Amino acid sequence: MSDCIFCKIANKQMDTKLITETDDYVAFNDISPQAPIHALVIPKKHFSSLNDIEDIELMGKLVQGVKEIAEKLGVKDNYRTIINTGAEAGQAVFHMHIHIMAGRPLLWPPG
Ligand code: 5GP
Ligand code: ZN
Repeated sequence: MSDCIFCKIANKQMDTKLITETDDYVAFNDISPQAPIHALVIPKKHFSSLNDIEDIELMGKLVQGVKEIAEKLGVKDNYRTIINTGAEAGQAVFHMHIHIMAGRPLLWPPG
């Protein structure tokens, strides 16, 4: 989508350092990190939220990617993944993304 900030990152229209790139997704650091490690994994294909997933196989690749990225970032034994769905749940960017947070004790339940 042309006005989507995460499409711009995935399409290299924005200069964002990538942690990982595959044919299906890219991962990069959150611009406003809420933990010492705070990365985002996004599909290259735009869809707005978890509710709009049509390609389950792609979702499996993203989850596998999360695991590999956590390993690459050196946090594979302790990390949190979050998918916010809907504004009231904290979703601000309507291009589905998976947060990976680590590097400090993470409280449960979150606020
Ligand atoms: P949400 O609140 O939608 O689950 O998460 C969106 C995340 O994207 C936020 O944590 C926010 O800091 C991050 N973010 C928003 N715009 C940008 C950007 O232009 N670059 C990067 N790297 N992160 C962004
Ligand atoms: Zn998008």
